[in-house]
Amino acid sequence: MNSPIKTLLACLALLALAGCAQNPVSGQQDFVMMSEAQEISFGRNADAEVRKQYGVYKSAALQEYVNSVGQQIAKKSHRPNLQYHFTVLDTPEVNAFALPGGYVYITRGILAYLNSEAELAAVLGHEIGHVTARHGVRQASAELAANIGLSITSILVPEINSAAGQNLSNILGGALFAGYGRDHELEADRLGAEYLARTGYDPHAMIEVIDVLKHQELLDAEIARQEGREPRHYHGLFATHPDNDTRLQQAVGESSQLAVANPTEGYAQFLRQIDGLTFNESSEQGVVRNNKFMHVELGIALSFPQDWRVQNLPDKLLAVSQQGDAVIQLKMDKQSSGTPAGYARRLAGFGSNSRIETLDINGLPAALVTTPAAMAGVIYLNQSAYIIQCGVKSRAAFTAHRNDMLDTIHSFHALSETERRQARPLAIRLITARAGDTYANLAQHSPLGKTAENQLRLINGNYPQGEPVPGQYVKIVE
Ligand SMILES: [Zn+2]
Repeated sequence: MNSPIKTLLACLALLALAGCAQNPVSGQQDFVMMSEAQEISFGRNADAEVRKQYGVYKSAALQEYVNSVGQQIAKKSHRPNLQYHFTVLDTPEVNAFALPGGYVYITRGILAYLNSEAELAAVLGHEIGHVTARHGVRQASAELAANIGLSITSILVPEINSAAGQNLSNILGGALFAGYGRDHELEADRLGAEYLARTGYDPHAMIEVIDVLKHQELLDAEIARQEGREPRHYHGLFATHPDNDTRLQQAVGESSQLAVANPTEGYAQFLRQIDGLTFNESSEQGVVRNNKFMHVELGIALSFPQDWRVQNLPDKLLAVSQQGDAVIQLKMDKQSSGTPAGYARRLAGFGSNSRIETLDINGLPAALVTTPAAMAGVIYLNQSAYIIQCGVKSRAAFTAHRNDMLDTIHSFHALSETERRQARPLAIRLITARAGDTYANLAQHSPLGKTAENQLRLINGNYPQGEPVPGQYVKIVE
C-alpha cells in the first residue's frame, strides 16, 4: 500500500477491530487482527483442511517421535504455554510449514533426507520460530489491512469479520504455504537456532539441513527433467536464502554461544525411526514407472506414450504431449451402469458427431468414442468405469497423436502379479555398512534406476561425494 491515507484508514480499522498485540518474540506492539484465542481457532480450522488435503502419515510411532522432539523445543521457545501440534503428512513433497496457533507440519518427503534428530529439530525449530514470531498472523493481518483499506467507509464490522474469515482461507492457500519472504525466513532460522541451543542441540544443524535441501532441490530438478515430471519443489522452507548467507551464519554463530558442551546429535535414534518410511509415491496415489501407471488398490495399469510427461496429481492423472498440444486424462467413475457403449453415448451427448464402437480391451468390456477431433475410451473393471479422455488443441494435433492415444486406450489392463510387485511403494530401509560398501555397489539393484547412486548419497547426507562408513547406518531404498 503506498497511499498514506489508505494506510491510516487501514490502521484505524485494525485498531477498531482488534487493536495492537504484543509480539511474543520482540516484545513490541504488532498490528495484528487476531487475539491468541482467534489465532488458535484459525489454526484448528485450517488444520482440518491440511489433514484432509495431504493425509496424515500412518505410523503412530513416527508421529509420536516427531511430536516428542517438537514438544521439547516448543517448551524452550518464546511461547512455551501455547499448545503445539506436530504432524507428519503423507506426501512425497519435501516441505515443512506452520500455521498460526501452534500447528506444525513436516512431510514424510523431507524426513527421508534428514539424518539425525538434530536436523529434525532444526526443521521443527524453524517452523516453531514462525509460530512464536506470529509470522502467519502478521502476514494475514497485513493482507487484511490492505483489503479493508479499500472499502473501509462502506462496510459494517460483522461483515468485515466474515470477509476476514474468507480472506484467511485464501491466504492459507497462498502465502502461508508459499513461505513468508526472506526477512521472516531469516528470523525463523535465527529463532530456530536459538531454540536448538536451548534444547541441547547444535544450532549448526540448521545450516546442515539447508545444505541437504539445496542439494535435494538441484538433484531432483535433474531427475525430474530425465523423468519428464515436475520437480518436487519445497516452497517456503529455507528456500529464500543460500546456505552461505552471512546473516544466517551470524545468527547461528550467536546461538552457538548458548549451546551446551555435548549437544545431542541423535543419528541412530532418528534413523531407526524412519526405517521403513515410504519413499516417493505411496500406494494410494499409484506409481508411474517408465510412463506406465500402476495402481495396486484399484488393480489397474496403463501406459502413456514414452515421450509424454505424466503427472500423477492427488486428484487426477494426466499426460501431456511433448509439444503441449495434446493431453490424455484418466478418470474413474465408481458408478458404472449399463454397457460401456451406453456409458460412452451418455459421455458424448446426443446428436453429436461421434462414432461409438464396442471393444474388448485386454479382456475387459470397453467402448471407444471418436469425433473428428477427440476420442475417449470407456473400460469397465470391478464395477467401476475408467474413462480415458484424449483432448487436442487442433485437428492437426489430433492427426499427429491419434495413434498414440489409441495405444494408450488399448494398453489399459488389470494389474498382473508381476506388476503388483513392481507397483509396491518404495521404502527406506536401514542397513549397517560393511567394509568395501560403496554407493555405486548399493545402487546396483536399486529400484531408483539410473540416478540411484546420487540419490542414495543424497539421502545419506553424502552428496555430492562421500562413501558409507563401515559400521554406521546407511539408508537404502527398496
Ligand atoms: Zn520458513
